[in-house]
Amino acid sequence: MSDTKHTKTILLLGVGHTHAHIVRNWKRNPIPQTKLVCVSNFPTTVYSGMLPGVLAGQFPLRAAEIDLQRLCDWAGVELVIGNVTHRSGRQLILADGTTIAFDVLSVGIGSIPSTRGIEIAHPACLSIKPMQDFTKRFGERLDRLRFQNRSEPIKVSIIGGGMAGCEIALCLQARLSQTATEIPFELKLIHDAENILQSEPSRFRRRVSKELKSRNIHLTTGHRVREISIGALHLEDGSTIPNDLAILASGAAPPPLLSQLELPRDDNGFLLTDDSLQSTSGEPVFAVGDSGSIQHKSVPKAGVYAVRQGPILWDNLQRLMDGKTPKKFEPQENFLKLMNFGNRSAAGVWRGFSFQGAWALHLKNWIDRSFVQKYQPSDKS
Ligand SMILES: Cc1cc2nc3c(=O)[nH]c(=O)nc-3n(C[C@H](O)[C@H](O)[C@H](O)COP(=O)(O)OP(=O)(O)OC[C@H]3O[C@@H](n4cnc5c(N)ncnc54)[C@H](O)[C@@H]3O)c2cc1C
Repeated sequence: MSDTKHTKTILLLGVGHTHAHIVRNWKRNPIPQTKLVCVSNFPTTVYSGMLPGVLAGQFPLRAAEIDLQRLCDWAGVELVIGNVTHRSGRQLILADGTTIAFDVLSVGIGSIPSTRGIEIAHPACLSIKPMQDFTKRFGERLDRLRFQNRSEPIKVSIIGGGMAGCEIALCLQARLSQTATEIPFELKLIHDAENILQSEPSRFRRRVSKELKSRNIHLTTGHRVREISIGALHLEDGSTIPNDLAILASGAAPPPLLSQLELPRDDNGFLLTDDSLQSTSGEPVFAVGDSGSIQHKSVPKAGVYAVRQGPILWDNLQRLMDGKTPKKFEPQENFLKLMNFGNRSAAGVWRGFSFQGAWALHLKNWIDRSFVQKYQPSDKS
């Protein structure tokens, strides 16, 4: 049956921090004669800011999840669950051979942890992405290690001492210590630079370092991991660290699919855009969140920026349809950073000022929950 109501299709590839905003706005203000279609590789998306709290056992995974089918049904948006393999002209091709045609495309499939320069024996390494099944994969690996009739503690290493790596280490410590009498463990954080959190104020760094120490998380800095093999991490200086399970928190790298979309990319492989978030190819294609890189601007790969791009993308999709000049995305210089310590407190930085306490965790939980709840429509909304 032909679709006479809709003459144009906007296709959102991936539904994360930026695209969820478009779906939500569609409910109130759909663009006339236009169909909105989303493609996602999972039926849910996870709000990354809450994943560490899930790891710590502070709340269940479903509290951090957005049910995409529910959100799309509520907003009158079509959702396709599948794996896109490549693009051919104005069509995306899925692994099962299905094609989805579009007039306008926006790519927001996030990023994956960087494995650049690291050789990996896969069972020894867990990727934090996809976040949707990380806790399941982590639990299964831990169970397997536990049943290996071991006399030694389970050795878990987090590779990367940025905000995400430190937060994951502290939250995992909270989780593992709940069962430490049955499953003894050792937790390590390995970072290649001399200091963890090197772009953060020194007072904040000191707070986090002190917390890591008091929680028996062993910190190794100034050493690059060159290989993750079964049983050990091999460092660039030739030394080894015994290891059963490594988790990469080593910065953002482009998902392989970005190289299959026939679009200009930056030196790291992310899709290159102008400051209206539109591909520098000049085609009606946008790239947002971690997947995009704005030409001549250095925007960190952080959820805060992906969220702020939502309203700009929404405006620019409408402007493109109306033949109007697009709006520019002006990234803010400062944003509030909060790190869940996995116990009852959090630490944060705001404009160079560092703080810590139970109230900071309450603030973080309030901000995070308010965000996720916007995309968890109830039957009454
Ligand atoms: C543990 C952790 C904690 C973090 N905490 C914070 C924080 O507190 N504050 C902050 O600012 N940033 C944080 N970040 C960074 C933040 O997660 C990213 O910057 C943010 O998720 C980027 O949003 P996005 O919309 O680009 O991608 P995402 O939110 O990752 O969404 C991408 C979506 O696309 C889907 N997808 C992926 N591949 C495909 C495919 N091939 N086909 C279809 N769909 C696909 C994914 O399943 C996902 O639903 C954290 C990152 C991690 C790993």
